[in-house]
Amino acid sequence: MGSEEIKNNLKQPESVWQEVRLKLRNEVGEVAFKSWLAQLVFIGKNSDHLKLAIPNQFLRDWVVPHYGDKIKSIWKSIDSQIQSVEIYVDSDVAIKDELDSESIDINAEETNLVPRSSLSPLDPRYTFENFIVGRPNEFAHAAALRVADSKEVSLNPLFLYGGVGLGKTHLMHAIAWRIREKNPNRRVYYLSAEKFMYEFVRALRFRDTMSFKERFRSVDVLMVDDVQFIAGKDSTQEEFFHTFNALVDQSKQVVVSGDRSPADLGGIEERLRSRLGWGVVGEIHPTTYELRLSILEAKAEEVSSVEVSRKILEFLAHRITSNVRELEGALKRLVAHSELVGRPITIETTQELLHDLLRANSRRLTIEEIQRKVADYFNVRLNDMVSARRARVVARPRQVAMYLAKQLTSRSLPEIGRKFGGRDHTTVMHAVRRVEQLSKIDSSFAEHLELIKRTLEG
Ligand code: ADP
Ligand code: MG
Repeated sequence: MGSEEIKNNLKQPESVWQEVRLKLRNEVGEVAFKSWLAQLVFIGKNSDHLKLAIPNQFLRDWVVPHYGDKIKSIWKSIDSQIQSVEIYVDSDVAIKDELDSESIDINAEETNLVPRSSLSPLDPRYTFENFIVGRPNEFAHAAALRVADSKEVSLNPLFLYGGVGLGKTHLMHAIAWRIREKNPNRRVYYLSAEKFMYEFVRALRFRDTMSFKERFRSVDVLMVDDVQFIAGKDSTQEEFFHTFNALVDQSKQVVVSGDRSPADLGGIEERLRSRLGWGVVGEIHPTTYELRLSILEAKAEEVSSVEVSRKILEFLAHRITSNVRELEGALKRLVAHSELVGRPITIETTQELLHDLLRANSRRLTIEEIQRKVADYFNVRLNDMVSARRARVVARPRQVAMYLAKQLTSRSLPEIGRKFGGRDHTTVMHAVRRVEQLSKIDSSFAEHLELIKRTLEG
């Protein structure tokens, strides 16, 4: 073996594949390459046997007789070990990215050195520029920004967690976009934990764990979204643990997200949980009214076809408290409706169109919670909410709580009455009217009311 050949044998099969692709493209020409070969994906190398996959039978039927030998001989010229090339059909390798086979950016793929199909696609809208920062997410956002912007690996690993629809994936994509933009040579590998498992299981099936390991351990930034998915999946967890350690030990950046804190991740082994929490843990808290309103304002501004009034945005921010995804969905629905019927959005149409969302959101707030918050706010005992005491200091807060129960939950007047120490529904009705009156004539009272509402919703 000449020294050139020895060097070639030490090359990772992945990078050999990139060379082969380049040569293939030069030899067969751009058009034929794009039509037939661009969608070939490197799966693995097993000593002298090479495995490639292609998305459908039609392509395979053409590629094997027409290009099979060429692929083998080009590969052999770089790595003389190769004896056979297998091309099999796997619809999962179809590149589901925003790119279809016509517009595959071959250069981008080459600099990444990893088959596109083993990554999860990045959403072009999920950037830092489009992320609205508020108190609930400011720490997570700052940590994400630091990871994306710093040349040295400092916050490692970064673990982002929070409930569904609060922006974890958005922040992960934003990090990936930013790093790619700043330094296209850094290999950023973003995928869901589900995809990680899928890749791993596939590697096991094809007895190809070596190249799986190599692939994952040669990246500069590994980002795994929704790690809770591998709870209870022991072998995947084991593999993830080793990959994770190998990267962190080489000072490669690792970013992981989950739906709860590392300590609370059930079904995940203690040693992995503890390592996940070693670096920086950034929680994304449930949204506040202010954040919801800022997000809505930003989104409404993007819509040019329809004017959404401030009053509507405030209404949504008050009432859709679950998460940002639902908030976005609500706004989209209103806008689509308004475009269709050509009428501006009113509170009435909003209530009608979103009744399901509004109901689901109000169900989450219980009368007990309202009583607790109101009692805290006015500094009275929780028991006074249900007691028979009529003294003003407790009667007024009780009325406020009844009013809020009517406003913020879907409970009926009799139901509310029962929860307030078995009172009659007329008592509740009276309380609601009284509070409405007071807030009209007494602005400081109205402010208090607004504040309590916000703490309940945020
Ligand atoms: P998660 O991964 O936590 O379930 P996502 O990142 O998918 O949530 O967010 C759900 C939706 O809400 C996405 O469309 C995302 O762009 C949007 N979103 C979440 N947080 C924000 C924010 N702070 N600013 C702008 N959009 C946000
Ligand atoms: Mg997500």
